[in-house]
Amino acid sequence: MNKERPKFPLQLDSLEPKKNLNPQSALGKKSLPLKSNLNFSSTKPFKGVFESPTGVGLDSAAVREHLIRKLAEQGIEDELVLSAMLNVERHKFVDTALVNQAYEDTSLPIGLGQTISKPNVVARMIELLRRGKNLSINGKLGRVLEIGTGCGYQAAVLSLVSKEVYSIERLKGLFEKAKENLRPLRVPNLHLIFGDGMLGYESGAPYSAIIAAAGGESVPQAWLDQLALGGRIVAPVVTQNKSQALVVIDKTEAGFVKSFFEPVHFVPLKSGIN
Ligand code: SAH
Repeated sequence: MNKERPKFPLQLDSLEPKKNLNPQSALGKKSLPLKSNLNFSSTKPFKGVFESPTGVGLDSAAVREHLIRKLAEQGIEDELVLSAMLNVERHKFVDTALVNQAYEDTSLPIGLGQTISKPNVVARMIELLRRGKNLSINGKLGRVLEIGTGCGYQAAVLSLVSKEVYSIERLKGLFEKAKENLRPLRVPNLHLIFGDGMLGYESGAPYSAIIAAAGGESVPQAWLDQLALGGRIVAPVVTQNKSQALVVIDKTEAGFVKSFFEPVHFVPLKSGIN
């Protein structure tokens, strides 16, 4: 393990929303944006992150930027999401042996049979969350519940696009690992909870957004109950043919509105703690 982690790029909570979230700007286009066109002005407070980490043999900022460009090419348009992912060092969340794969668009093992999600899926799900009616006044999500902290990577990304994040993990070993991974980042608006996320987390409710990193047969009632009016859930659920797809559920005055999106492959949502 690389214990010499540089301090996390500075107050994760200080990321200001982009002043100009213009979908026509360079990153929103499908073509490869030229470097000079990249305008991550919102990432300014994080410029410390661009210092290459020592001891991993990796120019982390450059490979991360390459990944983010790929995500933009693949159709991720939300600049705040891209900007957040540019700022979170994914290689700090995986085992040393996997560091060189950290910026490939792939899921990777994180122990106890679980995986860190594929970057494209992380970006896609958060983008879907942010397309709901659930944005707080300054363009960020309000209180967010994440089910399945795993190694803590997605929680760190979420903390940059949300006012407050509650992330719950049912496996003690991963809960501890996430705590260790996130400690040096000092993220004041992120709360890690050890517990069964199928029950949601009542203390933080109501949530403007709920995101699940594990797929069940259906969306648990507790999540629907703990979602604020106007809030949105994005989760993988098992479909009729036993595969999984992303489901988006909006809580509206008229009731819950559900829509299905593309197929995905997540680890199973399980009940109880271990
Ligand atoms: N977002 C994570 C992905 C982890 S994989 C990351 O960035 O690394 C999904 C995680 O969901 C696993 O760690 C698994 O243990 C957890 N999980 C599954 N069912 C759960 C439940 N009921 N409550 C909380 N966590 C759960």
